[in-house]
This record gives sequence, structure tokens and C-alpha cells, in this order.
Amino acid sequence: MIVMKFGGSSVESGDAILRLAGTVKSHLARQPVVVVSAMGKTTNKLLEFAEHARRGDRYLGSRCLDEVQDHHFEVAGQVANGDALQRIETLLQRSFRDLRVILFEVADEGREVTPALLDTIASFGEQMSSEIVAAALESAGIPSVHLDARQVILTDNRHTEAKPLYWESYARLRRVIPYLGDGRVVVMGGFIGATEDGVTTTLGRGGSDLTASIVGAGISADEIQIWTDVDGMLTSDPRVLQGVYCLRSLSYGEAAALAVSGAKVLHPDTVTPAVRQRIPLLIRNSRRPEVEGTRITQAAPRCFNPVKAIACKPDLTVLEIRPQDERDPEVLAAALAEMSARYGMPAEFVCQNNGTIFLALKSAMRYQNLPIELGGCVEVRLHPRSAIITLVGEGIDGTSDIATRTLAALRQIPVTILSSGRSKLAMSLIVPSSEMHRSVEMLHREFFQQIDPAVFAECQESGFQSPQPFANLTESGDSTGGARRRFRPLTPVSQN
Ligand code: ADP
Ligand code: ASP
Ligand code: MG
Repeated sequence: MIVMKFGGSSVESGDAILRLAGTVKSHLARQPVVVVSAMGKTTNKLLEFAEHARRGDRYLGSRCLDEVQDHHFEVAGQVANGDALQRIETLLQRSFRDLRVILFEVADEGREVTPALLDTIASFGEQMSSEIVAAALESAGIPSVHLDARQVILTDNRHTEAKPLYWESYARLRRVIPYLGDGRVVVMGGFIGATEDGVTTTLGRGGSDLTASIVGAGISADEIQIWTDVDGMLTSDPRVLQGVYCLRSLSYGEAAALAVSGAKVLHPDTVTPAVRQRIPLLIRNSRRPEVEGTRITQAAPRCFNPVKAIACKPDLTVLEIRPQDERDPEVLAAALAEMSARYGMPAEFVCQNNGTIFLALKSAMRYQNLPIELGGCVEVRLHPRSAIITLVGEGIDGTSDIATRTLAALRQIPVTILSSGRSKLAMSLIVPSSEMHRSVEMLHREFFQQIDPAVFAECQESGFQSPQPFANLTESGDSTGGARRRFRPLTPVSQN
């Protein structure tokens, strides 16, 4: 069996869902279980709806729902027919009726918008998209069955950021999926789960990748495929820099390091369930199924490029903190991260470097509310309006010259180099937020001037319209034996 997860843009329209049906059909022999996100930007719209309701704005709340409703009915009509269409229309009617009841209760009767209610509201996105996809498969002649994710994905009760109860979920998945999936494609929504008491929860934004990985581990799948809107894991975030390369392969460790450092194409926890059973994770482009994508496995492929990819996180405030006593800085860094999460300000990055701890929070957070001094620490320095750039690759270790090359490449930019503390496969640095795009471009030029064609592929589409390239030359062969030197049309994406 395999798991095929399709993200928001891969189910955003009738065309996208029909494409999905074709892709699933071509994998039928491998008994796919399909996991889908909400359609397009539905989750954002539902959360916006919740906010209008909270503010008592019945009109805007209702308009939001109208928009989502029209789109869902339109898409259902494009992809389903016969009984399947009738069933899905009844279901959509019931869902929007329930959402309108919530609007009335909140806006008119003062019901509080708790995190639990936010989860209920957000969960409609995946519930509806998965039902539509199941109906689309059925209508395309692919026997399928819908599974409510809340029956199999169990979580704790940290609403909006719930943590999966892995073993309990695996046990349910092992029991339910082979039974339901006997000769049929099981389709379920990602992102949503339930507590053991049956209360709806969500796994945090982008959580459908994690659902796919949990399902894969639960059924001991042969492969977990993440179908999205890019060719695979790219050497840089295409929203920051265009004209980059696509990685053919990566190790679990490298993929996890990139995901936690800002490579949004994978939810940060996706790799964990797959690693235990060594299930390969694949990132594929749903618009270009002919592209082989990125294969993520246990062993890092041999590669002469020490850096495999560059990830970044913008708009941060970085606190540089030093303990006043002899405490183990690693332990203290973990404790500070835990404390900031408890105060509702989850750390975007934390590490210790020679006894100094770096704790990064989103700039919008009120870091002044953190009782740092209670931890027996002194604040040494504050880096406001910063970005953290992370270079990832198993070739990055304590003895490499990556730091020297980084400082030379960014010589006009004020840089603070951090060791990641996490492992020997990442090195992070702080730069001013305003210099992030330029820094990524310069680092990309430095570390990907020569690329190993066994590991990196040309990337033809990155989800953006490419502006006019200023150079597009390719030379073959050089002294490193077989590797090619390329001059790429790199284009930083303008900041807005
Ligand atoms: P989905 O809806 O399919 O889950 P996401 O928007 O969550 O898709 O993730 C895909 C996006 O991740 C890409 O469109 C891209 O903008 C972003 N991204 C950030 N870093 C990377 C990277 N290193 N490689 C590929 N995509 C990246
Ligand atoms: N629909 C959810 C979100 O937008 C989960 C996901 O897409 O993975 O965050
Ligand atoms: Mg995603």
C-alpha cells in the first residue's frame, strides 16, 4: 500500500481534482490511501469567517461562507455525477447549515470562539474536500470509500496545535484501513483528528503532511507521496529565490532540518513517523506527474556539494541570552523554548553557541512578556527585524569551511553565525530581515555554482512566473570529473 497526500493547491479546483483522479488511477495497483487538504485557501477563509463572527460581524461572516459554499458546490458539480453528486450536495448543504448555526451562536448569542471551536470550524475544510474527492473518484469509475479522519487520528487536547497520540492512531489505522480499503481507495482529510473523547482537533497549519505520514506508519506503507505545487524539495524557497534546483534525493535528517528551518513544503513533524519503519517519503508535483520529484530516505546520497539546500525564516526577533550560572546551556535552551511555548510564543528557532542561547520569536510576538530573568539569565543582545537562514546538508560539520565561505559570500551584510545545536547537518545565521533575499541569493551562488547532477535536477517550474533571466548559460564538464558548472538565471523574488 502507499499513501498519496494532495495539498491545498492540488485540490483547489475541478481541474485539479480531475488531475488528482488521473494520478490516483495510475497508482491503483499499489493500493493507495488518499489524504487531502482543504481546497485552496479554504482554511484561511474559514478562520477569517471565525474572526468576523467573533467580532459580531454577521454580514462579513456570512459573505465569507457564501464564497466558500459557492466554490465547493461549483467544484462538486464539475467532478461528481449521479448518486455521488447527490450525496455530496446533501453533505455540503448540511455542512454549511452547521457553519451558519455557529455564525448565529457566536455573532448573535455571544458564544465564545474558543480554540476548540476554531478547530471545529477549520475541520470543515478537510471534511468537505475529502468527501468531494471520494465522490470524484467514484464518478471516475475508481471504487472509493470516505473515512472520517477523527476515527483514526487521535490527539491530545491542545486545540489548534494538537499532538498526535501516535500509538493509539497506528492501532486504529491498522485495524480500519485494510478492512475499509478492501478493493477500494480510502480517502480521508488531513490536518484533523479527535481527542479520545471524540472532540475535534487540528494538528497545526500545514498538518495534512503529518496526517499522511502517520497513516503511512500506521499501515506500514511502502511509500508516502506528498503531491504539491513544486517539483520537489528545492535548493531554496521559490518565494525567495527563483531559478533554483530540485533535489532528487535527501536523507530524513536533511529533510527534517529543512522543514523546521522554514521549508514549508513539509510540515516540520512529517519525517518522524516515516523514519521508524524507514518508509520513503516522496515530494511530487501534482501538475507535472512526469517529474520524478524528491525521494527522502535514511541514507544521504553521496554528493560533493556540502550544502543541499537553503531554508529561511523572515520577520523574527532574536534574543541572545546568557545564563548567570553554570547550567548546561543545551538544557537551558530547551527549557527556554518550552517556557516561551507556554507563554503562547512558540520559538521559531533555538540553539546554544558557546554558552550563549539564541531564541527566535516571530517579530509580532510581545517578547517583553517573557520572564527571561526568572530563568536566571541575562539578556545580552537583541536582534530585532531579523531573519534566520539555515544551510542544510550532511556535508556540513564542525570541520568544514562552510562558515568561512558564508562570511566571505556575505561580506557586505552584518551576519551572526549560529551553530544549530541540533545536529551536524545544519548551520544557521542571523541577518537583517531586509537583507534576507539578497543573502539567500549570494549564498546560493556560492554553494551551488557547481552541482552534482546525480543529486540536483533542473527545476522548470516553481509556482511563479519567472521574470526575464539575465544569464542562461550551461557549460559541461570540469575538473571535478563529470560534474557540470552552470550559470543559472537566479532571480530574487521582490519583497513586498
Ligand atoms: P501544499 O498545499 O501542497 O501542502 P504548501 O504551500 O504547504 O503546499 O507547500 C508548498 C510550498 O512550499 C511551495 O509552493 C513553496 O512556496 C514552499 N517552499 C518553501 N521552501 C521550499 C523548498 N525548499 N522547496 C520547495 N518548496 C518550498
Ligand atoms: N488545510 C490546512 C492548512 O491550510 C492543513 C494543510 O493544508 O496541510 O493549514
Ligand atoms: Mg502544506
